Amino acid sequence: MEYKMEIDMDVKTNRFQGVQNVKYTNNSPDALDQVFYHLYFNAFQPGSMMDVRSRTIADPDRRVRDRIFNLKEDEIGYQKIKSLKLNGKPVKYEVVGTVLEVQLDQPIAPGSTVDFDMEFEAQVPVQIRRTGRDNAEGVRYSMAQWFPKMAEYDYQGWHADEYIGREFYGVWGNFDVKIKIDKDYLIGGTGYLQNPLEIGHGYENEGETVNQKVENGKLTWHFVAPNVHDFMWAADPDYTHKKLTTKDGLELHFIHKKGQNEENWDKVIPQTEMLFEYASKHFGKYPYKQFSVIQGGDGGMEYPMSTLITGSRGSLIGVTVHEAMHDWYHGILGSNEALHPWMDEGFASYASTRIMDYINRKTRGESEPEVTLENLGNNSGQRSYVGLSKSGREEPLSTHSDHFNLNGAYSSSAYGKGAVWMSQMGYVIGEENLNKALLAYFDDWKFKHPNPNDVLRSFEKVSGLELDWYNEYFVYTTKSIDYGVKEVNGEGNKTNVTLERVGMMPMPMDVVVTYKDGSKEVHYMALRMMRGEKPAETQDKRIVHPDWAWVSPTYDFTIDRPMSDIASIEIDPSGRMADVERGNNKWEANSLNTNK
Ligand SMILES: [Zn+2]
Repeated sequence: MEYKMEIDMDVKTNRFQGVQNVKYTNNSPDALDQVFYHLYFNAFQPGSMMDVRSRTIADPDRRVRDRIFNLKEDEIGYQKIKSLKLNGKPVKYEVVGTVLEVQLDQPIAPGSTVDFDMEFEAQVPVQIRRTGRDNAEGVRYSMAQWFPKMAEYDYQGWHADEYIGREFYGVWGNFDVKIKIDKDYLIGGTGYLQNPLEIGHGYENEGETVNQKVENGKLTWHFVAPNVHDFMWAADPDYTHKKLTTKDGLELHFIHKKGQNEENWDKVIPQTEMLFEYASKHFGKYPYKQFSVIQGGDGGMEYPMSTLITGSRGSLIGVTVHEAMHDWYHGILGSNEALHPWMDEGFASYASTRIMDYINRKTRGESEPEVTLENLGNNSGQRSYVGLSKSGREEPLSTHSDHFNLNGAYSSSAYGKGAVWMSQMGYVIGEENLNKALLAYFDDWKFKHPNPNDVLRSFEKVSGLELDWYNEYFVYTTKSIDYGVKEVNGEGNKTNVTLERVGMMPMPMDVVVTYKDGSKEVHYMALRMMRGEKPAETQDKRIVHPDWAWVSPTYDFTIDRPMSDIASIEIDPSGRMADVERGNNKWEANSLNTNK
């Protein structure tokens, strides 16, 4: 799909006129007799679904609350359609909330390409959530969700979701965008600037002469963005612009309000280079030539090739890392983030944990730690998820992001449990397989729309293990994991151990026996339904026992040494398995606790 847009912004009225041409190719096997566009700005009107939801949900987003309800006429947002044509002929359409419903007399045949031409007019809302004007830090325009955006039609049909406040899903395409705006404004965002020598504002290379092409006090900025599913821009007359080209030739742009937190903005520049270096190596090669960190919005939000973050915070790197990782898990692996928010928020959170570890180590001049049973992988997201699991408010991870009962339950699921999905996968298939599978998943599914089964299949293919049960339990139910060491009994020169599955979700077992002489050995039981075993993860001795058929609530095995030699027996000392009750995971000699 090809988007061509030209808009003319009036910075006094905060309104803009737009023309849009969409070349839409129907890649589905179905004839389409209707299409849908998102009109996200319409959410910022009293009585919109986003407004009503925010005023009626038990734990409203503090950024929204009743602020939409209280917007005045000149503060609301809207996208008004002035005309819409299909291949030059007017079509019937109706605006319903944040969705434009379009009925076609002539269906779009599979494989065919049509032209939609639209004229529209928009008013930029006062910034409340993500997009808008004049945010809390005084950035004039944070322009996300600003254009009528074609909804996605995929194997599940149309996804013409109303904008209620959460996540996004879009059609892959090439964007060609011209923005006419007051000449004092500096723009940053998605896309490569095509006419830097007519613009200046720091986009010219050193030594190049700029001839600003001002017409009626405005400059026309021309951007193109290939192979993205969204386009964001931000503009302010007091922005300053810093650049860094990395060793790999990636152009990093940092755009923020002059004189605000300068020190932080300077510090984040080399850290962003480290972030891209690590991420390209471990999560897949970043395919674009540019990334921009821009002050705007209301916290941190991801967009293709860019992010909008607020600047008033202790350090900018944490939020920059998280949002940049969305460029992998939503920007490039374009899963349906509204329906599967955990595949984006969760995976981005998991990746952020690793990258922050790397940046912190590198900043302190430390080398990579030695791999031991205790420090394998990480437990990203686990605390948040386990808290949710015990709260009784958990809903399955498969819940659509808009339909969670509580904002809090949504966050702990999408970010927390989603991150656990990945970090715990390291426990199931082994860290080395996890690292290979992360790259394989990226290569298998970049610039497509992977779903929960697709990501699982990438992990199955790399590990050679059957993993369907993992999604069946962890994504589609709220059943939790709790294993314990039930009994330890000496019998001559041997020690008998009974393990117990207390929770409903089955998992393979790493049981680490530590002897009083300090040596350790791993006793491993795969699940029978995995149809295989993960490889050993450390140099420690490993004993592979017969697999555990999940229906059995207990499992007995024998250690070939007397009980008096044993200091402790512990299930998963790495902490990667999201066991909701860790108290029963460890048996210790010398302790009265027999973990019954
Ligand atoms: Zn996020």
